[in-house]
Amino acid sequence: MISKDKIKTFKELGLKEDIMKSLDDLGFEKPTPIQAETIPFILNSKNDLVALAQTGTGKTAAFSLPILNQISTNKRSLDAFILCPTRELAIQISRDIESYTKHTKGISVTAVYGGTRIDLQIRTLRRGVNIVVGTPGRVHDLIRRNVLKLNSVKWLVLDEADEMLDMGFKDDLDAILEQTPDTRQTLLFSATMSRGVSNIAKNYMKKAKEISVGSRNTGAENVTHEYYVVQARDRFETLKRILDCIPDVYGILFCRTRRETQDVADKLRQAKYQAEAIHGDVSQSNRTKIMDRFKNKHIKLLVATDVAARGIDVKDLTHIINYNLPDQNTSYTHRSGRTGRADKSGIAISIVGPRDIRKIKELEKALNKPFEYKQVPSGKDIHERQIDNFIDSIKVSDSEKIDAKFLEDITHKLKGVKKEDLIKHFVSKELSHLFNDNQGTRDLNSTFKANAEKSRTLNNATYLKINLGRKHRFNIKTLFAMINSSNKLRGMHIGQIDLHPEYSTFAVEKKYVSEVINSLNKNKFSKMPVEVSVSNDQITEATDNFSRKRNRRKNKSPRRNKGNRGDYRRRR
Ligand code: ADP
Ligand code: MG
Repeated sequence: MISKDKIKTFKELGLKEDIMKSLDDLGFEKPTPIQAETIPFILNSKNDLVALAQTGTGKTAAFSLPILNQISTNKRSLDAFILCPTRELAIQISRDIESYTKHTKGISVTAVYGGTRIDLQIRTLRRGVNIVVGTPGRVHDLIRRNVLKLNSVKWLVLDEADEMLDMGFKDDLDAILEQTPDTRQTLLFSATMSRGVSNIAKNYMKKAKEISVGSRNTGAENVTHEYYVVQARDRFETLKRILDCIPDVYGILFCRTRRETQDVADKLRQAKYQAEAIHGDVSQSNRTKIMDRFKNKHIKLLVATDVAARGIDVKDLTHIINYNLPDQNTSYTHRSGRTGRADKSGIAISIVGPRDIRKIKELEKALNKPFEYKQVPSGKDIHERQIDNFIDSIKVSDSEKIDAKFLEDITHKLKGVKKEDLIKHFVSKELSHLFNDNQGTRDLNSTFKANAEKSRTLNNATYLKINLGRKHRFNIKTLFAMINSSNKLRGMHIGQIDLHPEYSTFAVEKKYVSEVINSLNKNKFSKMPVEVSVSNDQITEATDNFSRKRNRRKNKSPRRNKGNRGDYRRRR
């Protein structure tokens, strides 16, 4: 409360009338916290600055406004130079700057980036501009061609420095920074303080002040992380089932490419989910329309590429869904940092392939948080969920509006029908669509073992017995799922598995025995408490089996190409 009230107005921070007028047009009422700190600093100090704040907190204005306030408007010298990782972002930033200078005369800005004709960019630069926004590759190119000269630069901004490094622009950055004068003020903005970022700060900045606002994107505290493991072809079906279980979803679904973004959004709409795509090929006016509808919650799910999602500032997101994992860990952090804001809890869901488990482990380390393995819900699970939700919604529906006389008539008509029957009829009428389709019967979960070294046999195999068998519809996948749902056991190697009607046995390394018993005994399966214990009478047999198996392998190597199923075999 107090800190919010303490935030000054743009005017109190010292911005000029013309800029404030533009901000007013944009509907910016108050500075965001990062703006409240960086604007006075940049206005009053010549020292370098490292500013860290979450994605979507208004960093563009945080560096642009104080620069615009000081830039000389009557000559055409390159005063401000802004480097950012992508073409989309360069365009976005230059548009933002144009909107901040709508009422200011004599400031010109241009964006330079790869993938388009260089001659037009050269022509604009030759004419002279006050501000250049560019991506490292193209900028480096333009410097080498002697078109872009940075010797007059007073402000050098590195926006999304972490991303630029992740994208492999380190060498370009080094070369570009060499070209800027020592007298410049360097302003580095980032969502995360990675090692690379602090190296830039060390090598290229002088006595930089660090301003850090709120939690950085180091995996927001309130976000829980979940993942599903499926084959690529089952991705979409998995997504639908997940969505079916979260009827109140309000979130962003991240895809890798524009094409995938559009495809997934189209398919979702065909399947009657409310989803819209935004990506680089969607026109600005459509984007604005879609964003407005998303902000008003008319659209519940926005399907977006990382880049398109950059400018989005929407609070209260319940979920972030990764249709697949991003290449960079920092992108995961950026994505998941969009939920769990302002003390609300959020869930980041990832749909991954069996080979991505290694990445999940990396992310767990990077974020220092456990990721929870989840089983793709079956059709039955979804039905149960939807019935639950439906019944809940009935309980809270507004029944006051029904006219008393009308109710009397209905009650009269239903006289003689038993309550139980009435419920049955009612539910089957309302939810018949759930019972008629046999969708969702296929098990989509993919078995996986994180550290599977394929031909490894277990050291000190110990057989365990579990009170679940074929009769309970227990199977290899279910066993893996149970094992993988424990953080300590995930990726553990399992030896031979034997499924019997009433119970099953499986071999694990001796050192895991107590953890397996501990973890699995906490589970329930089809409402039955799971019981695991050491299966004494089979220990010797197990060891025997293993040596036999090893011999067989030696003789018959082609069996191995059975992929991740090669390690366990049912005994008949
Ligand atoms: P970041 O770079 O921190 O990820 P952006 O600079 O892209 O965030 O800003 C995110 C969104 O917030 C943009 O849509 C921007 O127009 C809006 N915004 C920025 N500052 C303010 C403000 N003071 N008041 C209202 N909206 C703002
Ligand atoms: Mg930004």
